[in-house]
Amino acid sequence: MSKPFLSIERLTQKFPDGQGGELTVFENASFGVEKGEFVCILGHSGCGKSTIMNILAGLAEPTSGVVKMDGMEVSGPSLDRGVVFQNYSLLPWLSALKNVIFGVKARHPDWPRDKAEAHARDFLAKVGLEGDVVHRKPSQLSGGMRQRVSIARAFANHPKLLLLDEPFGALDALTRGTIQDELLKIWGGTEQTVFMITHDIDEAILLADRILLMTNGPFARVAESVEITIPRPRNRTEIVEHPNY
Ligand code: ADP
Ligand code: MG
Repeated sequence: MSKPFLSIERLTQKFPDGQGGELTVFENASFGVEKGEFVCILGHSGCGKSTIMNILAGLAEPTSGVVKMDGMEVSGPSLDRGVVFQNYSLLPWLSALKNVIFGVKARHPDWPRDKAEAHARDFLAKVGLEGDVVHRKPSQLSGGMRQRVSIARAFANHPKLLLLDEPFGALDALTRGTIQDELLKIWGGTEQTVFMITHDIDEAILLADRILLMTNGPFARVAESVEITIPRPRNRTEIVEHPNY
């Protein structure tokens, strides 16, 4: 059998526990993600979800184990891996539009400014941001709008792998629902692989092709991952045509 697109092999993370000992967050965690899959990783607070994501993003190194994408070992950040954090991480001194253009120019330094701007506007429109609002700075946008900009910026870069760490965690339920729909729409037309962290089981069931559950029950000292395949495979086209799904 061929290797999956993203392969996490025997990943172990230990941290100093602050009392001279060691905290093992997870040990020998192994799983794979196929190209084009939308995988959610679900687990309670503190079980190591963000730690795994930072490792996949190349922002942190595990204690041991390797991550491979397209068969190549991941080390350090790369434009092939886009990241959306819970707290938006937009550049505060740039408008929404310029934040997205900044990302596009990083990916395509040879593109002329008007091409990069048209591309950025196109992706902002996909998440419902059009007109004057794109000229506002992050501080002048609502939380939902800021997260829309982050998502537009990430997708506009066409990363092979998109990593989302509780992107809707700070949003109210109504806004969350709308942006979840937009995320499915913007993703539905691509071949992009999405790895999203959440602690919301409804969100995982709504969005994912497959859910990885990080458990850390009373008898398990170390988180282990359990895989759940959604029994009803989603039809992407259907979701695009029925935005209220
Ligand atoms: P989650 O995202 O699932 O809520 P995290 O991955 O942020 O959890 O953290 C998992 C565990 O590792 C927590 O107990 C946290 O306190 C600990 N931890 C995370 N980062 C560090 C660090 N840099 N140093 C020490 N402990 C850490
Ligand atoms: Mg976290």
